[in-house]
Amino acid sequence: MSSASHGFSGPADLHLHSNHSDGTESPAEVVAQAHAHGVRTLALTDHDRSTGWQEAGDAAVALGMTFLPGMELSAKHGWRSVHVLGYLFDPDDEALRAETDRIRGDRIGRAERIVRNIGRDYDLNWDDVLAQTTLDATVGRPHIADALVARGIVRDRTEAFDGILHPREGYYEPHYAPDPLTAVRLITDAGGVAIIAHPVTSGRDSMMPEPYIERLIEAGLGGFEIDHRENTEAGKRELRRIAATHDLIVTGSSDYHGTGKPNRPGEHTTSEEMVARLLARGTGTAPRFP
Ligand code: AMP
Ligand code: FE
Ligand code: FE
Ligand code: ZN
Repeated sequence: MSSASHGFSGPADLHLHSNHSDGTESPAEVVAQAHAHGVRTLALTDHDRSTGWQEAGDAAVALGMTFLPGMELSAKHGWRSVHVLGYLFDPDDEALRAETDRIRGDRIGRAERIVRNIGRDYDLNWDDVLAQTTLDATVGRPHIADALVARGIVRDRTEAFDGILHPREGYYEPHYAPDPLTAVRLITDAGGVAIIAHPVTSGRDSMMPEPYIERLIEAGLGGFEIDHRENTEAGKRELRRIAATHDLIVTGSSDYHGTGKPNRPGEHTTSEEMVARLLARGTGTAPRFP
């Protein structure tokens, strides 16, 4: 199908966060920011929840933009944190819902443990973190970072992640997350398209072994987010090779978090051809067109 028949056009940014997870702006504000940066097709991809879709979709359509419902599902492969973007899945799918409920629930206890650990050395408590979260948001280290900023312990989220929140500092605790194979199957079975987010960031989160990636492809993986500021150049070349071999979808996105990260909307984009492939493949929920 041509993009014209879908009625979308213009720069597509398929990975943005609102304050329903760890972004700093409401879904409507995220959409307005994306529009101001020239984005015309976008997906809201909050961590482990889809509650921002209605507001973001309404705002997008009002601005003449195309909206793809999405989510960034937390997974892990051994010690390696893996994020799986899901697009156009059914938000009422029971199995996926049960899994995201479990992840979000465990994230709360885990954040409390991290705060308790930090509280042994710094003046920080759980109320400080609650003051930084809105709307029952998916709680993560970024909210703890904001609490550290509010307490004057660090300057910004970046300083918090480079220091106190880094696992090497000893305060870190893990949270429950399914393995990537389960994550891909859940999204795919819910009629969605699963795309591995930023698969080759530098440092400890190196790429999953290729044989495991091939198992993900057999399980229905749709593709990779390749154009993302945290992917390494060498890693992007590897991913392009694997994507070409298996005829996968490749995307590019900003991973915008409002003022929580330097990433700007539209700093990386996805081609119209690839957006069309996503739209053709996702059957769990409808995109919204202007
Ligand atoms: P968590 O899932 O709670 O372990 O926290 C990881 C989240 O923190 C990721 O989704 C990122 O959005 C965010 N994050 C990671 N590194 C940074 C950083 N240096 N500055 C701001 N946010 C970050
Ligand atoms: Fe995040
Ligand atoms: Fe991520
Ligand atoms: Zn993200």
